[in-house]
Amino acid sequence: MAQAGEESISCADNRERSWWDVREYRLTVNFDLDRRQLNGEVTIRAAVVGKSPGVLQIDLQEPMTLTGATLAGADRRPLSFSRINGHSYHIKGDFDAAGTGSFTLQLSFSGQPAEALRAPWDGGVVYARDSAGRHWWAVACQDIGASVWFPCKDVPFDEPDSVTLSYTVPEYYTAVGNGMPDQQVFNEMERTTTFTWKVRNPVNLYNITFYIGDYARMKSSYKGIKGRLPITYYCLSGHEGRARRQFRQVQPMLQCFEQKIGPYPFYADGFKIVEAPYLGMEHQGAIAYGNRYGNGYLGKDRSGSGVGLLFDFIIVHESGHEWFGNSITASDVAYSWIQEGFTSYTETILAECLFGKEQAYSYQRGKRAIILNDLPPEGTPGQCDGGSGDHYDKSAFMIHTLRTIMRDDERFYAMLRQMTDTFRHRIVDGKTIERFLLDWTGNVISPAFFDQYLRTAAIPVLCLEKSAAGYAVYWDNAVPGFRMPVLLYADGREVWVTVSTEPVPVRELHLDTEWIRLSEDILADIKFL
Ligand SMILES: [Zn+2]
Repeated sequence: MAQAGEESISCADNRERSWWDVREYRLTVNFDLDRRQLNGEVTIRAAVVGKSPGVLQIDLQEPMTLTGATLAGADRRPLSFSRINGHSYHIKGDFDAAGTGSFTLQLSFSGQPAEALRAPWDGGVVYARDSAGRHWWAVACQDIGASVWFPCKDVPFDEPDSVTLSYTVPEYYTAVGNGMPDQQVFNEMERTTTFTWKVRNPVNLYNITFYIGDYARMKSSYKGIKGRLPITYYCLSGHEGRARRQFRQVQPMLQCFEQKIGPYPFYADGFKIVEAPYLGMEHQGAIAYGNRYGNGYLGKDRSGSGVGLLFDFIIVHESGHEWFGNSITASDVAYSWIQEGFTSYTETILAECLFGKEQAYSYQRGKRAIILNDLPPEGTPGQCDGGSGDHYDKSAFMIHTLRTIMRDDERFYAMLRQMTDTFRHRIVDGKTIERFLLDWTGNVISPAFFDQYLRTAAIPVLCLEKSAAGYAVYWDNAVPGFRMPVLLYADGREVWVTVSTEPVPVRELHLDTEWIRLSEDILADIKFL
C-alpha cells in the first residue's frame, strides 16, 4: 500500500535514537473491545551501539499514554520520562550501567488509539463490526507509524530481529498476529483468550499488526523451493466458501514468484492472509485482505487492458511486498520506489506467469495512463517525504524500461533473484539499489538514468531531427548526462539506437522511411523535428 509523506513524526536519526539498536520487541496487549481500550506492556531488548547520552526517545502518539518505564536488572526502579511532543517521549536512565552493551526496557501503556477513517490511506485502528454486529478490529499504520498504537522506536531503519505478540481478547474472538502461533490460553475467570504469536525474522514496525474478529481458519501448505511453507487463511465466519475459492490463486502465485524472483523470504514465519475491514496491507506473514473476494482492484482494472481483471490485485500486490518491502526494506520513506515500484512490477510478473508475456505487457503498458508525472517519485530523505504516488507505477515502468533495454529476460529475472538474495532481510537506501541495477545493466545506461526517472518528474523526449543527410536523434527534457538505448520500429524493422543528449546520426533510418515509432515498453515520448 501507500506512503503519503504527510506524517509529522521526525523521520530522521537523532541523538536520542542513534546510540541504540533494537533487537527484539515483546508486546503484550489486553483489548477491551466494548470500551475501545488497549492496555499493554512492551519489552524492548536493545544493543548499545554508541555512547549513551543518558536519554532515549520512545515514540507513542497521542492520545495513547506511556504509564511506566523500568529497566530490567536495575531493581526495576521506575525511570523518569516526559512527553516531548504529541508523538514522542524522552526516557532518562543509566542504560548501560552493567557495561554489557545491551539493555532491556519495559514500558507500559494504555489508551484508545486514533481511529483510521480511510484505512489504509490514513492510519490508526479500524473499529469495525461484522454483519452480525460483532467487533472486527485491525490496524493500518504505514504512513502514521506503529507508535499510533504501541510505544516503539518508530523509524524504518531499525527493525527488530524477532517479535513476540500476546493479544488478550474476550472469549469467542480470535486475535491474529504476524508469524506463527505459539500459544493459546483461555482464562476461565476473565472469560478471555490470549493468543501468542512469534515472528522469527526482522520485521518493519508498520507491519507489526493485529486482527480481532470472529474468524474461521483454513489451513493449507505449499511445497516450495525451501521446503514446506505453512499457509493459513483467516476469513470472517460465514465467508469460508468465497475465501476458499478466491485464495486458490495463492499457490500458483507463490510458485510464480519463487521461480521468477526467488524463494519466499520468511519460511519460518509461514504465510497468512487475513480478512480485514479495509482494502489491504502488506503485513509481513499476515497480509491484510479486503478486496471483497473478487478479481481486479475492487472489481476494477487499473491498467484498462482487461488483464487486471484476471487476478486479485490485493492478493498479488500485497504478497509481492513480502519480497520488496518486507524482506528488502527502504531505509527512508523517500525510497518508497524500492518497495512500491518493484512490488507493482510483481503484478506484471504474475500476469506473465499465468497468462503469457503478451498479456503481461498489455497490463504493464496500460498502466502508463495512470502515471501522474507531477513530482519526482523519490522524496527527500530525513523529512518523512515519500515522493509522488508515482513511486508505484512510474517506478514499475522504470523497471520495465530497464528490462526492455537489457534485451534478455533470463538475465532480467536472474538480476531480480540476485537482488532478493543479496538484500534479503536488509534495510537499504536508494543509491545501493541504483548501484546494484547499474552493475547488471553494464554501461548501457548512465547513472543519470535514475536521476531522470526518480529525481525529476520529467519524461525524456526522443527527438528525431530530419536533415538532408538523414536522421539525428537526441534526448530532450532529460537531465545532463542522460544516456539510454531505445528500440524504434522503422517500417516494421527493429532499430536499436543508444541515445544521449547530444545529436547523433542514425544510419538505419532513411529519409524515405515511411513510419517510425518508439517501443511502448520504454518510458519516453517521441518528437519529430
Ligand atoms: Zn504496495
